[in-house]
Amino acid sequence: MRLVQLIYCSRVASGVHGTAITSIVDVSRINNARDGVTGALCFNANFFLQCLEGERAAVNEAYHRILRDPRHEGALLLRYTEVPKRQFGDWSMGYLSSQAMTPELLLQYGSNDLFDPEDLGADAALDFLLELKSRAIRLRQPA
Ligand code: FAD
Repeated sequence: MRLVQLIYCSRVASGVHGTAITSIVDVSRINNARDGVTGALCFNANFFLQCLEGERAAVNEAYHRILRDPRHEGALLLRYTEVPKRQFGDWSMGYLSSQAMTPELLLQYGSNDLFDPEDLGADAALDFLLELKSRAIRLRQPA
């Protein structure tokens, strides 16, 4: 089995707000648990940044399904690589709060204190998500 990790960012489509995002997370957790996909999703009013990891075919299938979703646009693939082990293995889809994105953290990874994932390189995108995870800012995660 080839284990891969994929990170992309995209722009939140206009008119998409909190309840739509809650439903995305809920569906993601069900589908990803079914498909053996793990990862994390963070977002603010403008952008999504998501990591998907799992068996190569399962991750590709999920990504292609996600690309067709009208609730976002302009997806930009930031990272796609084989990995020896999962880094978000305990999350079917960890939901990382934008509140965790402090100005200090954003300045550490970007050129300003705004969340602009289109500006992140492949390694920085992963490190940013891992840093958010390490802060354990999870608003909602099933017990
Ligand atoms: P169906 O539920 O049959 O829907 C058919 C089409 O309508 C699809 O193109 C679907 O994207 C779209 N759609 C579904 N619900 C809505 C709605 N409320 N408003 C507008 N369009 C809608 N899914 C996962 O399984 N795993 C993930 O990790 C994941 N992450 C996501 C991250 C982001 C940023 C976004 C925007 C979506 C994500 N999704 C994820 C949801 C995914 O795009 C699909 O909606 C979901 O997987 C169901 O796919 P389906 O083909 O069964 O679609």
